[in-house]
Order: sequence, then structure tokens, then C-alpha cells
Amino acid sequence: MTSGICGRNNTGICHCDGWTGKDGVSAMEYRNDRNGEKLSILGFGCMRFTKNGNAIDIDKAEKEIMAAYNAGVNYFDTAYIYQGSEAAIGEIFERNHIRDKINIATKLPQYMISNRKAIDKYFDEELSRLRTDHVDYYLMHHLTDVAMWESLKSVGIEEWIKEKKACGQIRNIGFSYHGNTVNFLKILNDYDWDFCQIQYNYLDEVTQAGVEGLKAAAKKGIPVVIMEPLRGGKLVNMLPEKARKAIAESDRGFTPAEWAFRWLWNQPEVTVVLSGMNSVEMVEENVKTASSAKVGDLTEEDFKLIEKVKTAISEKEKVGCTGCRYCMPCPKGVDIPGTFRAYNTMFSESKKEGRFQFAQTVGLTREPAFATQCVGCGKCEQHCPQSIDIRNKLKEADKALRPIHYKIGINIARKYMFRKKRGT
Ligand code: SF4
Ligand code: SF4
Repeated sequence: MTSGICGRNNTGICHCDGWTGKDGVSAMEYRNDRNGEKLSILGFGCMRFTKNGNAIDIDKAEKEIMAAYNAGVNYFDTAYIYQGSEAAIGEIFERNHIRDKINIATKLPQYMISNRKAIDKYFDEELSRLRTDHVDYYLMHHLTDVAMWESLKSVGIEEWIKEKKACGQIRNIGFSYHGNTVNFLKILNDYDWDFCQIQYNYLDEVTQAGVEGLKAAAKKGIPVVIMEPLRGGKLVNMLPEKARKAIAESDRGFTPAEWAFRWLWNQPEVTVVLSGMNSVEMVEENVKTASSAKVGDLTEEDFKLIEKVKTAISEKEKVGCTGCRYCMPCPKGVDIPGTFRAYNTMFSESKKEGRFQFAQTVGLTREPAFATQCVGCGKCEQHCPQSIDIRNKLKEADKALRPIHYKIGINIARKYMFRKKRGT
């Protein structure tokens, strides 16, 4: 590691020049943010540090963070609700005198906000935990619906952001997103964002914000940070046998994780990919991939292999929905592809994961989008290129996704969230 002005990094912060990994691979790749500052394409997700009881094992976390820093990683992502994380990284950055050499991304727990005073309270607490006087990339955490953003606007968030940017306490403002594509586009187009963060991987190409959301953000010049590149580890640990075999037989010799990362970095619209690294070995492995992954690297053969893997995963699914959205909008507001996606996830991954996904993308949007709202008009089926028996499949999916205790849970959560959003 060297210091000083870096040819690849016009922030004046250099920790990449001359770095070579264990196998002599080249230095970390960087991509620009909206102001032309260089961000390492590999970001450190600070949510999964190893714990000693309830507390983060700070010495271990320090080794991992410093290994990443020394390899050129300059983007560290945390959040108010990641237990102990802000305080831990604040301590590590201070102890190693690197605060000014890296970027901190953290998040406003917008779901806990009911007035302007609360925004200040959480933000000040975050600065204090992080031992800093500014946040480089600040996000509205976990928006799933445009109504959540509207609710923040109603308590004066726009004015607040303006003030914080003017005084330098926030350098870039963005949002992290977990809803459907339609709501993502609405939020994206409603404000002059500096960046955004989405769940994206080769399985989520047409769900969540999806490739459509990614490209729309890039078209507006907004950098996109990627979370869940491995779908919470599913693209590594829970691949069906057929998918594993296809990967093992490829001449490329990439690991399942490498395929997932390389698929992302192959796309110029992707800026930073977050990885929740909790061992030095994992840091080294990811850095090695990030140091050799380039836009346009993947060949037609590679894409064929990824399709094979996706097919092997989808063979375990229940409905052949591709997420094309030709059936939308439903006049009764049913989120048809969102419901099928979550239903399929129950079989390709796990019941729990499918229901969790359903709660995030369908169950907790302000406008209810449940399959039970279907009146059976059949309009959707006329447009479905997969000839899916949508009306019946919706009934089947809803029954599986919302057993009685989930129904009650989602209803309570909806009452709580939307009562709070009205400030009552
Ligand atoms: S059949 Fe049901 S889901 Fe399909 S468009 Fe009509 S109301 Fe919507
Ligand atoms: S049109 Fe058919 S395949 Fe496309 S999203 Fe709707 S249900 Fe799925």
C-alpha cells in the first residue's frame, strides 16, 4: 500500500497503487460516483461481523477491514440497525487513522421516523458512533414503496438533506431499496439522488428494482451500489446439484461466488458490489475476483452457463413466471409477478425466504397488492406469454405464502407502519 495522489483515484486518497494480491493479480478496480470520485468495485458490507456473545469481535473485524483497506477497498457500508456495527467501524477507522482515506455509507432508519426531530436524533447518534463529523454516503434505509418516501417528505426530509449537504455533514444522499420495479422507478425519479442501493444478482434480474431499475438509474448518471450479490449466500450454498455440476464442468474454473460477482461487474451500470466479509480469506478471495473482473468480460458461453444455472434453480419452482410484467397493471392492484416470485422462492430456496420476500415486496407496500383482491376478470391471462393459469395459481400462491399466522403478522405490521407514517 502506498499513500499520496493516485492515478486511478482523483480523491487524492490512494491505497491501491502497486498493490498486488497473493497471486500477483492486479490492483483493485474503481468506478466513478456522480462527482467523479473513484469507488472500489468491491465494497465492505459491515453487517456480518463475527460476534463474541452479543458484541462484535473487534480485533477480528479490524483484521478483516484492514485487509480490505490495504487491498484498495474504500467503501464501507453499515446502518443504524446493524447491531454494534457503526461503533465498531468507527473505532477501527479511528484506531488506524484511516477515516479520511475511506468512504462511510450508513443509513437513516426511516421506518422509525415520525417527525423531523427524530431525523436529527438518529443522525447525530450515528455520527457519534462512527466517530466522525460527516457521512460520505447517506441512505434512506429500506424503502419498499413510494409511500415511505412520501411519508419522509411530509416530515421535511428534503429540507433536512439540503441543510446537511450544505454544511458538509452529508456528502452524497441516496436510498436503499427492497420493493418492486414500479415503485423503485417512482422514487428514483422523484428526487435528485446522488446514488442508490438495490438488491441485484442473476436471480433478481427481473425482480426488485431489477435490470430495468439499474439501467434507469445509470441513465440518470446515478451510481448503483449492489447488495445481496449472492442472494444471502444462496447462490453459493444452496445451488441445486445440476447447477453445481454445470459450474464445476466449466473451463473457466470460477467458483459459484465468482460467477455471481463477475455477472455483476460485467455490467457497466454497476458501481460497487457489497460483500459481507467475515474472514480475511474471504476478503482476499473477493479482492482477487474484483481485481480481475472487467466490464464486458463474460462471453456468450459464460452467459449460457449462467442461464443453465438459472434453469436448474427454476426447475425447482412452482410457476413458470419470468417476471416480464406483461400482465400488469392488474385493475385491482394485485402484484402478480411479485406474488409468483415469492411463491417460487419458497421451493427454490426455503419457505421462510419466500415468505420474507413476499412481506418485503408485496405484503408491506402501502397500497395492498394481495392475491385475494383478484376479482377474476381474466385480463392478465390474455397477456401472459407463458400462458399461466394466473387466477388459480394466485390462489394457490396466496394460500402458501400467507398461512393464518403470517396474515396476522403482516396485518399488524401494516397497521403499525402506516399508522406511524401518518404521524398519529
Ligand atoms: S384476473 Fe385477477 S389478477 Fe388478473 S387482472 Fe383480473 S383482477 Fe387482476
Ligand atoms: S405475464 Fe405471465 S410470465 Fe409475465 S409476469 Fe405476468 S404472470 Fe409472469
